[in-house]
Parts: sequence; C-alpha cells; structure tokens
Amino acid sequence: MNSNNVRFNEEGLVPAIVQDVRTGDVLMLAYMNEESLQKTIETGETWFFSRSRKELWNKGATSGNRQTVKQLDIDCDQDTILIQVESAGPACHLGTATCFTRESNDDLRRQRTIVQEVAKQIEKRKQSPQDGAYTTYLFREGIDKILKKVGEETTEVVIGAKNNDLDETANELADLTYHILVLMEELGLPIERVKDVLKSRRLQEEGIQ
Ligand code: AMP
Ligand code: ZN
Ligand code: ZN
Ligand code: ZN
Repeated sequence: MNSNNVRFNEEGLVPAIVQDVRTGDVLMLAYMNEESLQKTIETGETWFFSRSRKELWNKGATSGNRQTVKQLDIDCDQDTILIQVESAGPACHLGTATCFTRESNDDLRRQRTIVQEVAKQIEKRKQSPQDGAYTTYLFREGIDKILKKVGEETTEVVIGAKNNDLDETANELADLTYHILVLMEELGLPIERVKDVLKSRRLQEEGIQ
C-alpha cells in the first residue's frame, strides 16, 4: 500500500480497521494521521492518533498488547485503511480480545474458531504437561495410544451413524476431532497444512468449472 494514495479527512485523519490476520475477527477501529501511518509502515507495528489526547499512540506501548502488521490495505475510494495484524494480546483496552464483544458476535466467533482454539490448548498441554490432564496422559502414552484412540473414535462415529443417532454421532465426531488434533500435534503436522491441501483442491475445482 502506498500512503500517498490515502485520502485523509478534513482533520487529517483516516479510519483504520484492525483485523486479526488468522481468524478474520475485527479487533478495533482507530484513526491514523499521516505520521502514524508512516510510523506503522516503517516499524511494522500499529500507530494511531488519539483524537481525545491529540497525540500519537503506539498500540500496546503501555499494555504490551502490540500488533504486528501483516498486511496493509486500502478500500475502494481510499478513505479507509484495513490493517491485518498478529496481536500479542487483547486489542481492547477493557481486556477483551476485540472491541466488538456483543454476545452474538462472540457466539459466531466461537463457533468459527473452536477447532483452532482446541488445537491451541492441545499445543499448550504438549509444551507444559499437567498431571491429571487427559491430553498430557495421551502425549505420555505416545503415538501408538493416540492412533488407537483415533481408530476407536472412528468406529464409534460409524456405529452412531449406522444407528442414525445424530446426538451420539455428533459427540463421537467431537471425540474424533479432538484426537485427530492430538495426533497432528504429536506428529508436528499443523492444521494449516491440511487446510492448504483442501484449498488447493478447491482452486483446482474452480479452474475446471
Ligand atoms: P495500549 O495502546 O494498549 O498500551 O493502551 C494505551 C491507551 O490507548 C489506552 O489507555 C487507551 O487510551 C488507548 N487504547 C488502547 N486500545 C484501544 C482500543 N482498542 N480502543 C480505544 N482506545 C484504545
Ligand atoms: Zn471508502
Ligand atoms: Zn475497545
Ligand atoms: Zn468417543
């Protein structure tokens, strides 16, 4: 993005929407003047202009919740900036991950990101084992135990489906998903690799259509 193209308003400001590059969640909206945009481009961290304090602020300078810029974009008529970031912590000064925490949003977000959330929790358990935790138990038992569980849960899914018991099948699919995530962590095979395969297949299909 070239900052020369940006159309600042009569106060010399441009709104900047900050989005989580991984989940797509909208984190916050703040304003930039030319200097803060310049600093954002130079440092790779977000800088804004506080309209109340009339000064530049580097997001996270006091809270530690810095935002690393992954992508800068501008909208169709050059009057709004979109910044995709990796956030070191909550984006909202009230301590929530995003400034948009209406319950409906939260539910949707949860539903969309739950698999990644569980994967992250599993990764944490792998790094810091905790006595009594089932995930820690699985990692201690090792790959053969994990594979055995994946097999068992698959069978349970098949049985649930055969019986046309949707509650049971949903439960067993959740069990299977969890154990597959444990398996991927044990193998060091990130879920992104699986998503990449799915994505390239979709692209291929789109090419054919
Ligand atoms: P921080 O930049 O996280 O160190 O917070 C420092 C100050 O920036 C806060 O006291 C707020 O004034 C402001 N601030 C931080 N995050 C936000 C936000 N998401 N929305 C509005 N103001 C914010
Ligand atoms: Zn616009
Ligand atoms: Zn907020
Ligand atoms: Zn099960």
